[in-house]
Formats: sequence, structure tokens, C-alpha cells
Amino acid sequence: MAGRKRGPFVAGNWKMHMTRPEARELAEKAVAALAGLHESEIVLFPSFTALAEVGRAVAGSGIKIGAQDLHWEDKGAFTGEVSAPMLRDAGCTHVLVGHSERRQYFGETDESVNRKARAALRSGLTPIVCVGEVLAERESGRTIERIDAQLSAGLRDLASGEMEAVVLAYEPVWAIGTGKTASPGQAEEVHAHIRRRLEESYGKDRASCAIILYGGSVKPANSYSLFKEKNIDGFLVGGASLDAGDFAGIAAEALRAYREEK
Ligand code: PEP
Repeated sequence: MAGRKRGPFVAGNWKMHMTRPEARELAEKAVAALAGLHESEIVLFPSFTALAEVGRAVAGSGIKIGAQDLHWEDKGAFTGEVSAPMLRDAGCTHVLVGHSERRQYFGETDESVNRKARAALRSGLTPIVCVGEVLAERESGRTIERIDAQLSAGLRDLASGEMEAVVLAYEPVWAIGTGKTASPGQAEEVHAHIRRRLEESYGKDRASCAIILYGGSVKPANSYSLFKEKNIDGFLVGGASLDAGDFAGIAAEALRAYREEK
């Protein structure tokens, strides 16, 4: 396969885990375990309360931090919410938008995903926009239809220049936290489709540079074969990111596949 420039990009979504001392310990372990894997872009997504702590722990390592959600307004009377400027102030470079758990449990819609992505970009944050079908949609042959709907509404009105700063994550909902992983072929089919859609909307150059992550029960044992697929540029990792060794193993296997292609 011809060498590619994209990736590996490995993101760890810690979800609602870790007090500040626990987060510091995990971040320190991640820094040690990931040393030597600096060709990869690594971003950790702790809870809001641990952002500053994790930011200090990773300082100077090249590892970045991001938040798991944001509000679409920069400030105002929105009790309990956190804005993009606040995340920048806390040291974030990235933010997850439209994670399936936000969609499933907290009423996230494609419209709010779009507003949040635009808010992130306004503040210079890289949004990682998550899309993915539920099991019933896959089983009834509606995967691509669902992805298309999420992409067109979630990315609505984003200019080609803005898309440069957007990362996409394909996360089949049936594979998240379930131990079931999409096969490399199943994942690649959707990733290739997403890249084609980006090409139609933003042109070939923008599409060929776009980072498209896969998420759904990624482990050290499957990251090599997934990354070998042409359109899989890295991973959004949930459960396995809570173990520094596993997380580093995923990054190392992706990097091994990447180096073979260069
Ligand atoms: C996720 O939360 O984005 C995720 C992919 O979780 P897991 O790796 O645990 O399936």
C-alpha cells in the first residue's frame, strides 16, 4: 500500500471515571507507557474536574487533553454547563462532540452536535464528531443512511477551511463497551464511505487529509488489523484507555501498522 500521512491518532475517553488523584496516577502511567510513541497524536479525555490535574501530569510529554462535551454558547445562564472558552482555559485542545452516550442518555441531537462543533471551532478547539449506527439500524441495512444523516446535519454549514480542524469518529453503538468490535472490513466500509462523503462536500484534498477514527471495543489485540485498513486513521478508545498499558499497546500496534506503510 502507498504510504499515507494521516495518523495514528489515539484518543482515550475516560468517561465518568477517576477522582483527581486517580486521574493523576493514570495520566502519569500513560506518559511513561507512551514514551517513544511520539509519532502518534495522543489525546486524553478525563472528566471536567480532572482536566487541570491531567494537564499538569502530561505537560511536556506531547500528550494533549480534551473534554468529553461542551455547551454551544460561550457563556451565559446555562447552569451546569461548560463552554469552549472555559475548556481552552483549562488547557484543552480537543473536545468530543456527539458521543453515542450523550445521544443515548442526554438527548444529544444532530442539531446540537452541529452547534457544539461550531462552538468548538470558534474557540480554536478540535471537535471529534462522533457518528455511528445502533444495532437495529445495522441489522436492517440502514447503517449508511444513518451515518449520512448524522454527517449532513452534524457538519451543516461548516466551511471547507473549518473542516481542516475537524476529526471524525465512527463508533458503531453496538460495539461500544460491549466487547464486540466491528471487523476491519465492516469498519473500513463505513470509513471509506465517510471519506467519499467528505470528498463530495469539501473536495478531494480536504477529504484525503481528514482524520477518521474508529471506536468500539478497541484493544491492543485488534488495533493493528484495524489500523491496516486504508481509511482508519486511529482510535477513540473507551474502556481500554483506563489501563495505561492497554492504551499504550493500542497506540504501539497502530504505530507498527503505520510504520510498515511508510
Ligand atoms: C467510547 O466510549 O468511545 C468507546 C469506544 O468505548 P469502548 O472502547 O469501551 O468500546
